[in-house]
Amino acid sequence: MENSEIRELQEAILRLKEEKKAIILAHYYQRPEVQDIADFVGDSLELSRMAASAPHPMILFCGVTFMAEIAKTLSPTKTVLTPYPGAGCILADMALPEEIQEARALHPGASVVAYVNTHARVKALADIICTSANAREVMEKTPGEEIIFLPDRNLGAYHARSLKNKKVILWDGYCPVHQSITTESIERVREKHPQALVVVHPECPPEVTERADFVGSTSQLVGFIANSREKSFIVGTEEGTLHQMAKKAPDKELLLPDPVPTCHQMKMITLERVHKALREEVYKVEVEEGIRIQAEKAIRRMLELK
Ligand code: SF4
Repeated sequence: MENSEIRELQEAILRLKEEKKAIILAHYYQRPEVQDIADFVGDSLELSRMAASAPHPMILFCGVTFMAEIAKTLSPTKTVLTPYPGAGCILADMALPEEIQEARALHPGASVVAYVNTHARVKALADIICTSANAREVMEKTPGEEIIFLPDRNLGAYHARSLKNKKVILWDGYCPVHQSITTESIERVREKHPQALVVVHPECPPEVTERADFVGSTSQLVGFIANSREKSFIVGTEEGTLHQMAKKAPDKELLLPDPVPTCHQMKMITLERVHKALREEVYKVEVEEGIRIQAEKAIRRMLELK
């Protein structure tokens, strides 16, 4: 699409947004042109808080479907739209409700901590939810000595290393985008930029997080780079994050591993689909009420964590 066509479509979306009194929320991994029409761009924790507090009657959620489900779970009376219901998350698909029940039966004393990247019907079976920004705090404050952490084994293992007095049972799930970030894919770039600091997301494999200069959630990576005195960074997370990083730290050199980590599910949200969603008020996100009530309890326990 030409730049002028992109701008035209963006303006049409913004007009519709005003007309419908909608708020547009977008995840960091969205396409840059989609991030640019959002009222708020953030990671899962920030977006959950925003979805819970926004006074707008309509929320258009630009992200994968479990994220739009969270908005609906926390704001059941609002219309929540997803521009494309086919935008799923491969990591979320790695934990099924019947598997959680089996795991609970195997470890009856354990609490279930579910990463936000899960379906609502899985959140409904969890004791508490966490995001990559607060996973350690949630695990630490969860009562009891045994925790089943699902579904991302890398994130769970990263925090379990520094947790005392907790036995963490790891699920065997992973995000294929972050799993594809390897020491080799980082070294390929570092050979040409030996001065660059390596900052990575905790969903990356252990051998990557162990060697990184900084490990943090998407927002923590953005903040670290913006506040750092260093000038050059190899960023080990999904490429869309660089759009906000470049805005917040325009003087920094931002590099990606080779090959570039891209989430094709996130990229299924296009401006055309956002426009259609607002114009036709599709696709409405619904969560069955019994599941919603249980999932909301688990999410609110996280949001209210002191
Ligand atoms: S980056 Fe990974 S965890 Fe995030 S939506 Fe894509 S597949 Fe799911």
